[in-house]
Amino acid sequence: MTDRTLRLQEILLEWGTTHRRQLPWRENRHPYHILVAETMLTQTQVGRVTRYYQDFLSRFPTPFVLAESSAPEVLESWVGLGYNRRALRLRQCAQVLVEEHDGLVPDVQETLRSLPGVGAYTANAILAQAFNKDVSAVDTNARRVLVRAFVGQPMTQVALQIRADSLVPHGRSWEWTQAIFDLGALICRVKPSCDRCPLAADCLFDGHGLDPYIPPRRQSTFAGSRRQYRGQIVRALAQGVQDKEELRRHTGLDADSFNSIYQELKNEGFFGTTETAPPGASNPSTSTLGGCTGTSHGTQHHMDSAAINYTEVYSVED
Ligand code: SF4
Repeated sequence: MTDRTLRLQEILLEWGTTHRRQLPWRENRHPYHILVAETMLTQTQVGRVTRYYQDFLSRFPTPFVLAESSAPEVLESWVGLGYNRRALRLRQCAQVLVEEHDGLVPDVQETLRSLPGVGAYTANAILAQAFNKDVSAVDTNARRVLVRAFVGQPMTQVALQIRADSLVPHGRSWEWTQAIFDLGALICRVKPSCDRCPLAADCLFDGHGLDPYIPPRRQSTFAGSRRQYRGQIVRALAQGVQDKEELRRHTGLDADSFNSIYQELKNEGFFGTTETAPPGASNPSTSTLGGCTGTSHGTQHHMDSAAINYTEVYSVED
């Protein structure tokens, strides 16, 4: 490691200790808590996650509780956070943890990667923050800091991961991870504030000229997007709306567009369709969130087990 790299490393660690953001998932290093936090933080801003994180953990404090809960209960705690599939995957993940790992989050990357919803980034984030392993969690904030300050040129994800892992100060990955996240979030933003950056003297990019950080493609606009309509349907289901036509009216979509999204959600296990209509029932398209019927008037789940349709299939892919 060069003197310049060692200096950057030392300065960043020092800066990190004095400028660390107080975030609820930094209060302890419990692997399950980190798993929940990192799942929530995927593609979601920190400020938004802080509003959900503690409530979620209060309701599902352990993998055992989460594994035993119903899909509607989990979705109810997630609605508003977005990307609701993450909630179903997290529940699946808890079930695997209970069934195969005694309810413990593993500390081996390959085993973590085999869990539902856990990709390369999340596995590294858990290893670095919960188990203090010498690996780097490279999210977009970290990527900016790494390529600008330490690398000085664009790099593929695989190459950057190798380089990033080599930069982790031995035994200090938790501190290192927080420092990089914080610098990327507070100073080395897309438009960097180099004039107040502690790394400015040794950084390989001074904020001018060709930026080695290439931003990921922007997400399509949320308003009017498929994601927005999916969220509307899931929210309506969580509020107990059962009737398919009423769900469609919630979205304001035409029948074809609605059916396409409805079927997609159904395939992913968000709700089932009652197989046998109860006596007197006439609407064959009554829907149930995650296999659980909602109240017909709409503000609350009807959790009576006799009304639950157990045909739910959670086939959400990673
Ligand atoms: S000097 Fe500028 S480009 Fe370099 S790490 Fe700091 S903010 Fe980012």
